[in-house]
Amino acid sequence: MDDKLFYEDGLRFSCQRCSVCCRGGPGFVFLSKTDAQGIAKSLDMPLHEFIQVYCRWVEWDDGTRLSLKEKISLDCVFWKDGCLIYEVRPIQCRTYPFWDSMLESEETWRSASAYCPGTGKGDVISKTVIESCLELDRSTPVIMKTDI
Ligand code: SF4
Repeated sequence: MDDKLFYEDGLRFSCQRCSVCCRGGPGFVFLSKTDAQGIAKSLDMPLHEFIQVYCRWVEWDDGTRLSLKEKISLDCVFWKDGCLIYEVRPIQCRTYPFWDSMLESEETWRSASAYCPGTGKGDVISKTVIESCLELDRSTPVIMKTDI
């Protein structure tokens, strides 16, 4: 039986606006070309300057990826009493918490409530919406150092 069938009838999720996913701990926000271009445009910066000021290179399984920087506090570089780039936030942020890693099994989804209190709360998000998040993540390449 496919493990992912556990969300056949959807999953409850309602963001509690706690910002735990954006601050106070180490993490990576990998960027697609569209993400980076959209954020740079919103900041009225050339893409290369945006990368220099707000991004860092991270060694990953598949090579060196571009991620947003973190502050010394480990908050996202764009977090200040909320997301400063919410309208143009990266796909990784838009699709959270419906990531492959969170939906590997019913157990991984349940354990996600330890770091995302929105899971298990609110309205049911349909399987179709969940799978569209997964598909968007899977089908959108992130920027690799070899691309620049
Ligand atoms: S951790 Fe979950 S509930 Fe909190 S802000 Fe992030 S998505 Fe919303």
